[in-house]
Amino acid sequence: MSGAAQDRYDYAVVGGGIVGAATAYELSRRRPGSRIALLDKEDGFGVHQTGHNSGVIHSGIYYARGSLKAELCRAGVAATERFADENGVPWRRTGKLLVATSAPDLARLGDLRARAAANGITAYVLSAAELREREPKVAGLGALHIPSTGITDYRRINERLAALVERAGGTLLPRTRLTGIDERPGEVVLETTGGEVRAERAVLCAGIQADRVARMAGLDVDFAMVPFRGEYYDVRPERADLVSTLIYPVPDPDLPFLGVHLTLSVDGGLNVGPNAVLGLAREGYPKFSVDARDALDVARFPGTWRVARANVRTGARELWNSMSKRGYLRLCQRYCPSLTLDDLTPREAGIRAQAVLRDGSFVHDFLLRRTPRTLHVVNAPSPAATSALPIAARIVDELGE
Ligand SMILES: Cc1cc2nc3c(=O)[nH]c(=O)nc-3n(C[C@H](O)[C@H](O)[C@H](O)COP(=O)(O)OP(=O)(O)OC[C@H]3O[C@@H](n4cnc5c(N)ncnc54)[C@H](O)[C@@H]3O)c2cc1C
Repeated sequence: MSGAAQDRYDYAVVGGGIVGAATAYELSRRRPGSRIALLDKEDGFGVHQTGHNSGVIHSGIYYARGSLKAELCRAGVAATERFADENGVPWRRTGKLLVATSAPDLARLGDLRARAAANGITAYVLSAAELREREPKVAGLGALHIPSTGITDYRRINERLAALVERAGGTLLPRTRLTGIDERPGEVVLETTGGEVRAERAVLCAGIQADRVARMAGLDVDFAMVPFRGEYYDVRPERADLVSTLIYPVPDPDLPFLGVHLTLSVDGGLNVGPNAVLGLAREGYPKFSVDARDALDVARFPGTWRVARANVRTGARELWNSMSKRGYLRLCQRYCPSLTLDDLTPREAGIRAQAVLRDGSFVHDFLLRRTPRTLHVVNAPSPAATSALPIAARIVDELGE
């Protein structure tokens, strides 16, 4: 059933990105016969973060042992590959190289390999010569090779999940914006632009709007979603065979971003990105987008200023490289010296939903919060696309009977 509001649902899932769609799908599998609605304010499903990401099936090497990210990303690799196979969505195991371009980077490769081992992921340290042999166009002092990393198309996975929900009898409600939540003893009433949607339980997977939606449910919100733009360039098609593996720099361990990387796509293309620049619009994709409410929220939130102060140099560098294509190119040339300005064409940016606390620290792990009848996914940054199916399984476990 599509676009038709029913009187009352067992479960209403708000937010039809990959996390919400996977949750509705998991509910339809594990609670067959239950009445499920999947709502999104947009015309279709998967148009925000899920439709603007790198398409990487992350192996899960970076994440602290015992974290939800480590556990659910690892499970997500197998779950994503299986789902893609069963549903005709293209995917490929390309492997990934973390390339060290400085002595400190080289020293960190050992730590990263140890972390990979702790998370049960195979990774090999390569010498400079072994790196050159594997990827002749890539330069570095050494690298960490992670064979299990892959690529897919998350928007197609998202669309397929929504289609399966509908096929199982669920109701898809696009163009339905949540505006309020009224939790009563016997039900939760979602106020939406399409009228009231009543449900036994609601799961809120609103991505970058998670703080506003959590506030609607009366949760004590001690964080804000801060938009970090991720800008990309496509590499000219004639040079798409420059590399055969995904090529990443060694990441800064204090930041939740991975650095500008060379990423193959399942349609045969190659792109580079994303950088991480503080944004002034949560859903405004063109450069210089400003949304008055979003900009005011960014400016008023003390955590933003603390992040900015703690990362002045990184922030200034990211901003400069966002404004200057030459600066951006230099980041890529550190590990791929033959790339030129002419090789790069800008493509639409993505915007990360990153929860930041008042003290300016990033919430690194996935985070759920709940009230008696609502469950909120309040932080689902990368690798939440890879991890969406296990996150959904966790949510359904949490909902109980
Ligand atoms: C640049 C970039 C690169 C990334 N690369 C990767 C990667 O390679 N691999 C990986 O695993 N992850 C990656 N990620 C992270 C991944 O894309 C996200 O973690 C994931 O898509 C989050 O899914 P979501 O469903 O939580 O959010 P979204 O996809 O943003 O969906 C949230 C949905 O909620 C809806 N919504 C919000 N408010 C309301 C409301 N009031 N009423 C109704 N609907 C509402 C929105 O319209 C939206 O559709 C990347 C992210 C970015 C931005």
